[in-house]
Amino acid sequence: MTSLGNILEKAIHRLSAVGCDTPRLDAEVLLAHNLGRERTWLYLHPSDSLDENQEKQFEELLHRREQREPVAYIIGHKEFFGLEFQVNPHVLIPRPDTELLVETAIKWSIINNQLSIVNRKFTIVDVGTGSGCIAVALAKHTPDLSIIAVDTSPEALRLARLNAEQHAVADRITFLSGDLLELLLEPVDLIVSNPPYVSQPELAAAMPEVSKYEPRLALDGGPDGLEVIRRLLSQAREKLARGGSLLVEIGSGQGQVVFQLAHSYFPKADIQIKQDLAGLDRLLVVQM
Ligand code: GLN
Repeated sequence: MTSLGNILEKAIHRLSAVGCDTPRLDAEVLLAHNLGRERTWLYLHPSDSLDENQEKQFEELLHRREQREPVAYIIGHKEFFGLEFQVNPHVLIPRPDTELLVETAIKWSIINNQLSIVNRKFTIVDVGTGSGCIAVALAKHTPDLSIIAVDTSPEALRLARLNAEQHAVADRITFLSGDLLELLLEPVDLIVSNPPYVSQPELAAAMPEVSKYEPRLALDGGPDGLEVIRRLLSQAREKLARGGSLLVEIGSGQGQVVFQLAHSYFPKADIQIKQDLAGLDRLLVVQM
């Protein structure tokens, strides 16, 4: 019988051999998932062993990871903003980078509620909601916002709704299937989006986890990465209420060009580019 400790060491070795970035973490997460345990449980039981069935199942998980399938798709969930989200290959895996957008949107809603003379509900739209992680995190942290979550993919919308139900905020989010802001009937107070912004050459050179497994629809921003951002800014001119704001996640090399672009669409607005925790340009903020 091989011990869990040994099984882990072998798995780590195999994952580093194929170029996984975080072989120990991945092996531990997969093994813990296989056993239906927390990762910390493994540290307390290094000499336990797997039965035949568990061994076979772990081999399958490990094999998938060796093909560079992302851990989140293998185990079916990912943590974002302190909340657990179901994910599948129809949606982008939530990334910590995107928490900046959520934090900024929460601050926006607190400030605007304080400033608001009339006590009315603000409306936010989350464009390209994917797993719903942004819309759900916002709904969880801002009780007085009404949220519209839009996506072109029906599979993504189905999952976003499921995530909203699991976090008990489905009654506060309206799900819309459509292209960007096209189907919005009335202007909204805040537009948030993590649109596809990776350029096609960058996407071709991305890690297999991204290029082979994540949905192209959620990543591909055309030849220069800005195609969807351009369309979004253009549509936003008619869909943003007076005094409204727009928050759009961008690539780390896009700060300057997106700033110029936003200025050309909104010459009178206050425009900023915010940096993420790594100090990289990550968020376009347009305030009307
Ligand atoms: N940050 C993601 C990546 O680099 C891209 C996300 C997106 O295009 N919205 O993989």
